[in-house]
Amino acid sequence: SNIVWRIVDLSEFIIKDFDRQDIYELVAEMGEPKYRSDQIFSWIYKGIHSFDEMTNIPVYIREALKEKYILNSARVLKILHSKIDDTTKFLFELKDKNIIESVLMNYKHGYTGCISTQVGCRMRCSFCASGIEGRIRNLTPGEMVDQVLMMQEQIHGKRISNVVLMGSGEPFDNYDNVIKFIRLINDEQGLNIGMRNITLSTCGLVEGILRLSQEGIPINLSISLHAPNDKLRNLLMPINKRYNIRGVLDSCKQYIDITHRRVTIEYILIKGVNDLKEHAHQLADLLKGGLFHVNLIPINSVKEKKFEKPGLESINRFQRILKAQGIVVTVRRELGSDIDAACGQLRRRHIKKPVNLLGVDIC
Ligand code: SAH
Repeated sequence: SNIVWRIVDLSEFIIKDFDRQDIYELVAEMGEPKYRSDQIFSWIYKGIHSFDEMTNIPVYIREALKEKYILNSARVLKILHSKIDDTTKFLFELKDKNIIESVLMNYKHGYTGCISTQVGCRMRCSFCASGIEGRIRNLTPGEMVDQVLMMQEQIHGKRISNVVLMGSGEPFDNYDNVIKFIRLINDEQGLNIGMRNITLSTCGLVEGILRLSQEGIPINLSISLHAPNDKLRNLLMPINKRYNIRGVLDSCKQYIDITHRRVTIEYILIKGVNDLKEHAHQLADLLKGGLFHVNLIPINSVKEKKFEKPGLESINRFQRILKAQGIVVTVRRELGSDIDAACGQLRRRHIKKPVNLLGVDIC
């Protein structure tokens, strides 16, 4: 179609893009004392919907903020509850009308929010729904924060204790915004989500892995490997032509040397493609001796793609071979597949709004 999508840089206007230092500077510019900036910052994370709810902030400051900034960068468009497990998918509409998806999972140890980092994705992995339309734009830190806040609002007083950057998008293709987001939600005056409760998943952008190793933030790093040799990985993940398996794993080893943190290797199992005995042995050889943990993910269905899940027997066989080689391995539970909320099923959405005869939106 010949629709032209508006690409808008909203970063100057969303107050949630501001960290504590940014707000401090803004308040200082207004000639106001520093304690005001701490008050404003903590209000933002209380899930308010208007600057007027900042009741201990003088009205003239609230008015000044209102004039220049928006508080909420997104609104809830749709909430889908899974009928098979306690998983909820959210569709959010951004200010430029792009629609993104996020997922809320209820585990024994608390709520986990799965956050998107881009509208779409440009990695175009052959099995994934997120890259089908390419990358439309990066999300700002505030747009990522809003996904957490707006999902938290739905669990009435309970908190999201864990965040995984595993929604649409490649986090390291939006590096600076993603790192700012992580620091924002970690701020103790904000959501106070522990660094160890935050997981970033990447398809293996080597510069990103190396930069992260220097940030001094002890988050969890997951690598989408999905194949045990370059020939196969080239077929499944085009990014492998730029950063091959050796390069990715070498950068992981540097990351481990510097941070002493274990790295998770994500490995989708696809029937007849990468789930054979020899693949398990190749994978074990790649990872032996390193501080790795393998998370096997039986592939989830994506309607445009023809890949199939292996049977339980080959999943178990794969796991057994890795274990026998001394590799720590777990199988990821599939959550929310009935609402397309499972790994690889998040995508860019287009919702046709009913339009009345005057051509005006009526919803
Ligand atoms: N771009 C990042 C973040 C996405 S995380 C990354 O590649 O890691 C989403 C995870 O789901 C990734 O590990 C991705 O490879 C995986 N995935 C994609 N399609 C899938 C599918 N059809 N079934 C199961 N997992 C899938």
